[in-house]
Amino acid sequence: MTTTPLPHTQQNQTAGTTSPITVEVAVPLPLDCTFHYRVPASLADQIRPGVRVFVPFGRRKITAYLLGFTPAPPDQPLKELLEILDNEPLWTDAELTFFRWIAAYYLHPLGEVLKTALPTGINLKSQTTVDGESVTGGKNIRRERFFEAHDSPDPVKIKGKGLDILDFLRQSGPTSSAELRQRFGECNQNLRRLVELGYTRMREQEIYRDPFAGLQIKPDTPKALNRHQQQCLDSILDAVVLKQFAPFLLHGVTGSGKTEVYLQAIAKILADGTNALVLVPEISLTPQLVHRFRARFTDSIAVLHSALSDGERYDEWRRIRRGEVRIVIGARSAIFAPLERIGIIVVDEEHEASFKQSDGLRYNARDLALVRGQQEKAVVLLGSATPLVTTRFAAQQGKLGYLSLPERVGSSSLPETSIISMRMTAETPFSPPLLQALTDNLERGEQSILFLNRRGFASWLVCPACGADLQCPNCSVSLTYHRQRRKSICHYCDYQVPAPCICPACGELELKEMGAGTERIEHELLERFPNARIARMDSDTTSGKGGHARILDKVGRGEVDILIGTQMIAKGHDFPGVTLVGVLQAEGSLYLPDFRAAERTFQVLSQVMGRAGRGDLPGRVLLQAMQPDHYGIAFAASHDFDSFYQEELLFRQELNYPPFGFLAVLRLSATSESALIKAAAAAAQLLGLLKQQLGVRTEILGPAPAPLYRLRGRYRYQILLKDTTRATLRRLVSIYRQQQSLPAVIRESIDIDPVDLL
Ligand code: ADP
Ligand code: ZN
Repeated sequence: MTTTPLPHTQQNQTAGTTSPITVEVAVPLPLDCTFHYRVPASLADQIRPGVRVFVPFGRRKITAYLLGFTPAPPDQPLKELLEILDNEPLWTDAELTFFRWIAAYYLHPLGEVLKTALPTGINLKSQTTVDGESVTGGKNIRRERFFEAHDSPDPVKIKGKGLDILDFLRQSGPTSSAELRQRFGECNQNLRRLVELGYTRMREQEIYRDPFAGLQIKPDTPKALNRHQQQCLDSILDAVVLKQFAPFLLHGVTGSGKTEVYLQAIAKILADGTNALVLVPEISLTPQLVHRFRARFTDSIAVLHSALSDGERYDEWRRIRRGEVRIVIGARSAIFAPLERIGIIVVDEEHEASFKQSDGLRYNARDLALVRGQQEKAVVLLGSATPLVTTRFAAQQGKLGYLSLPERVGSSSLPETSIISMRMTAETPFSPPLLQALTDNLERGEQSILFLNRRGFASWLVCPACGADLQCPNCSVSLTYHRQRRKSICHYCDYQVPAPCICPACGELELKEMGAGTERIEHELLERFPNARIARMDSDTTSGKGGHARILDKVGRGEVDILIGTQMIAKGHDFPGVTLVGVLQAEGSLYLPDFRAAERTFQVLSQVMGRAGRGDLPGRVLLQAMQPDHYGIAFAASHDFDSFYQEELLFRQELNYPPFGFLAVLRLSATSESALIKAAAAAAQLLGLLKQQLGVRTEILGPAPAPLYRLRGRYRYQILLKDTTRATLRRLVSIYRQQQSLPAVIRESIDIDPVDLL
């Protein structure tokens, strides 16, 4: 539609008999409120909540999202909206309710939440006219022509190829121009003539790009479940029957068959007539999971993949919106998928940090799965071998059902694991037992994985004699070594000590700076094993579409003897040929300046260990560690989640970290360091003042330099807020947001329930 807005008439304003329709809209701008507009009479019939509208805003005209009808606010005169941009609503009322919840919880403007929830393809400003109707995002909709024979009298005026085509159409029904071209060669002329003569009808139809076209998949049938799997499935199905919100933790060791439980639960949901939403950490890293869904279900599946083009993404979105899809699989943003009648939401590897978005709208899809599940009265299944301590705690408190798969499927068992102490041997990356194990594996023709969790920017100091690192006395996090300033600094509270200094634990004189990369390891490995087929998998080697899949496929086909990589290789891959996993620097993530460092270490070690011995041959794991007794390492090695959980819980309780306290982080950045330091101090001061006025006990830590102190030319500071109740914390932050005014050169963001404190 290209309607010009009717000039708003005198009559309309004074009539009083029919009060004008007023609507509430959200604009995609950093503003906390929504706005009201009047609907011109000409658009009154077409207006529906959930469509986009074009509105005058200040001196501009912008696209806004229509939330619903509201009574006209008494005081101010309202502007009229100009245009309705969608023929169909983009969202249902239930979805709008969900988005309002998100905006309120994350203290983020509703208009920006809505914009984030839309596929990028739709936001491209383009209007096309098709069949006299205007279509938004038209540029991104792919259309194909279809031809169909008319019931016409005998085709006297046509012969040759034209007649062949017509005969074909009469027998086969509507056929796409692409297919006709394949059969008859270039035939546009003939088709045009057939249409002109009235023998054939042509119509344009939307088609979807299929990113998986041509992919051959062998169908697969449900497996007979083992006793534990059956128990889990039964509990889930009992909940399905009740049609109530029912959240579960599915805690199953690596290779215990969690995916099979998801698949069978989903099969039941689909049979019941409701739909399934499946969230995975990163699709590109888990091609096997998507494959298993495609092999199992003939119902249509939408896969929201980060490598989709804008057009493909928009296609998938429309298929889902139109109810043509029963299962949606995707990474975190799939939580916004316009899927209706959701019966189950699965969050696979629920502990993964990648469910949290780290910029813009800082939402956590794992948490939102519970919110949306509650609104939809759905079953929510959080699956992991290493659930978050907070998730396990919620299950312990009865807020989540607890389902357990304590054993691997079939005859395979968890790998035998030994820890190798690396103290005083830090010069070489490989210990003699690891070298021996690699040599043996090569000789036997079995595959090995070497894991190194290198983080490029953070380095830390470790005592080569006792293995201790420097800890902040206030925050129980590792201090980060700043080489240029020759200091070790706490990134929560700004505690500082000169560095390098003597080891506070044992008095050793020279601490060692730690941090070596995968590339160097690959190099050394090639020198030691010149005949081995070695592959490296990290963010440098996997760029581009299908980068991960290429390497993973090679490993799967047995064309790689040793795979070396970062945490990417720890994800749910199922390589039956891998019998040895070696971990260099088991504490690689222990020294991150983050209170979750121990938890992350436990998780990543358990996951990478879980890659060993998944086939017929038993697996073996060697962990090289500077701190072999650390509970995050020792309990991972003994496959002892419960002991790890108990110990971690004590630590969290002592310092009011989650689940005993809640966090928010205020991040400030600027190109001018001095302006930033001043602004950060002022922000902390205002927070302190508000804390006093409200009479609350929120801890205000910092301002401190962010661990990643300088990023893309900007200096970064952060203030960490901690409180034992969520409500207090959010009240403090939202009042702060109303009162604070920062110079324009300072950028500020608020992160509720932060996951990454770097
Ligand atoms: P997890 O997701 O817990 O790591 P998977 O679901 O990947 O484990 O299962 C590991 C392997 O065991 C897969 O190859 C899967 O096909 C197989 N599997 C799962 N359940 C069964 C079962 N009940 N019977 C036979 N094989 C199974
Ligand atoms: Zn500190």
